[in-house]
Amino acid sequence: MKRFDAHCHLQDQRLSQRLSRMLQTWNSSGGGFLVSCGTQEPDWADLMAIAGRTDTVLPCFGVHPWYVETVSPAWEENLGGYLERIPSGVGEIGLDFTSATPDRQLQEAVFKSQLALAHTLGLPVSIHIRKAWDSFIRILKHMGPLAGGGLIHSFSGSADMVPMFERHNLYISFSGTVTNPGNKKVGKALKAVSRDRLLIETDSPDLLPRLPEPVEDGINTPANLPVVAEAAATLLEVPMEILVQQTFDNGTRLFNRLTNPV
Ligand SMILES: [Zn+2]
Repeated sequence: MKRFDAHCHLQDQRLSQRLSRMLQTWNSSGGGFLVSCGTQEPDWADLMAIAGRTDTVLPCFGVHPWYVETVSPAWEENLGGYLERIPSGVGEIGLDFTSATPDRQLQEAVFKSQLALAHTLGLPVSIHIRKAWDSFIRILKHMGPLAGGGLIHSFSGSADMVPMFERHNLYISFSGTVTNPGNKKVGKALKAVSRDRLLIETDSPDLLPRLPEPVEDGINTPANLPVVAEAAATLLEVPMEILVQQTFDNGTRLFNRLTNPV
């Protein structure tokens, strides 16, 4: 059956050797869509090339909070050019206030300008938030519900935040962290999400879920999405097929402009 991997990075160098085979496997085992997010200016061209090869890959362009110090003087113009040229969303953008991340004020400035651009253009946005919930909520409340909607990827917030995010037109996406039985917080958050706002993702090549067989190189691929689906379905006590169908419907609704370009 068709699946929707709501967040991954197919242009990552760690996947380049196996990309063709990976896409083939994805299509032959049911197909669906993969939302691949850029993280910094140098990977946007690679991402555009991959998305140009297949309708399966839905691209998002953006500057990840880890790379805000690397932007060129013309980065905003550059980003606007990509968003205009091909049907795409904005991402991965966000705030990461864990230790050893770039200056927080700079992170906020780069995040706000990309969020505002997505809002103005009515494009869906893929958001990364780590230990920066207060700042994110302040920015979001100031902006109001997002015109093109968006998702919070690999959600690590608390269950009580979920209704407010949903009211701001956000979907909540869960990664391999749901396969860790010790992560009670993520299980609680998952249960708080409305069924029509729920998404799943692999974040390939990162966030390898707990697998029945260990992977030697530690590299995650979209072929592991069913492992995330299975764990989420078990926590929600629903059949896995229902969860896969629901997250596919939700993903194609949110990324409607990319799956059905005019
Ligand atoms: Zn990511």
